[in-house]
Amino acid sequence: MCLVQPALAKDIKDGDRWSIAIHGGAGTINRDKITLQQDAEIRAALRKALEAGSDVLRKGGSGMDAITASIMILEDDPNFNAGKGAVFTWDKTNELDSSIMDGSNLSAGAVAGINGTKNPILLARAVKDKSPHVMLSGAGANQFSREQGLEQVPPEYYATPYRLKQIEDVLAKKVSVKDVDYKFGTVGAVAMDKAGNMAAGTSTGGMTGKRWGRIGDSPIIGAGTYADNRSCAVSATGDGEYFIRVGVAHEICTRIRMRWPIAIEEAQKSVPKNADGNYTYTIHASEFMLSDEEVHEIADEVIAEMGNLGGTGGIIFATPWGQAGYSFNTPGMYRGRATSEGVMGVSIYGDEE
Ligand code: ASP
Repeated sequence: MCLVQPALAKDIKDGDRWSIAIHGGAGTINRDKITLQQDAEIRAALRKALEAGSDVLRKGGSGMDAITASIMILEDDPNFNAGKGAVFTWDKTNELDSSIMDGSNLSAGAVAGINGTKNPILLARAVKDKSPHVMLSGAGANQFSREQGLEQVPPEYYATPYRLKQIEDVLAKKVSVKDVDYKFGTVGAVAMDKAGNMAAGTSTGGMTGKRWGRIGDSPIIGAGTYADNRSCAVSATGDGEYFIRVGVAHEICTRIRMRWPIAIEEAQKSVPKNADGNYTYTIHASEFMLSDEEVHEIADEVIAEMGNLGGTGGIIFATPWGQAGYSFNTPGMYRGRATSEGVMGVSIYGDEE
């Protein structure tokens, strides 16, 4: 834990701070599996998405608009398993999942097993803003999308030769989705805007060869996506079944929220008392923050618990204190982060920052 420098507390109140983190999936992403061209293409796409989101935040736009802008760019990029480039189901169709959450009021929207919508994140957002529900699925969600006037695409829009080859491999070998490493490439973004509002969103095609209407963690609020102004914003990627069982995104936010008042209380104890036995100074929440290390520790703990069950993957987070970071137990995760303090970078492999 650490006390915020007075200047930092002032900055927060003045509304100058913002942060954003994005991901494009986690997995067995090793240097020997990725060509130099893929490496360059993915970094360029991550940079473009990060820039788009940062631009919104820099200009004073909302975290919700920032993450939507970033996610749409990654959905439109065929290198990622979301929107164009989504993986195929066992029946060689695409069933897309997405969710979004606004930490200022805990409003949320999600869609599962959809197709026809060009940008699933826009449909999740429409469910949040324009319907009385949190989650819609399948044909009903597709109908809602058309009624909302969202851009529609033909079923073949999502297909890429790379994803077709993957499903053909799976079908030829008759292997289970769990036996292949073709599931990664999910995209997500989290942000804190200048008003201090947290936002999180995730979008995916799910797992190659999924069947029986399987739905992963990405559209499940609390598992793959969560945002709460009192704690953090999280978007996940990885073996969805494990993220659902641990409720990873909500679990990280809850641990931050619970540790936060305890940390204030502990810091208060270090303040000297006067002759009457009263504290000479009362610590106010706006002067206080969890340190980068503490937030990482909490995220790492939850990822380790998910890993102990047998799951792999990772998360990105943003905090109300302007931090943005990652935690993952895979060799790599496509990721990027930017903050008002000048942090701006994208990375792929586990040994990069
Ligand atoms: N979490 C996604 C799912 O289980 C897949 C991924 O993130 O790669 O559907």
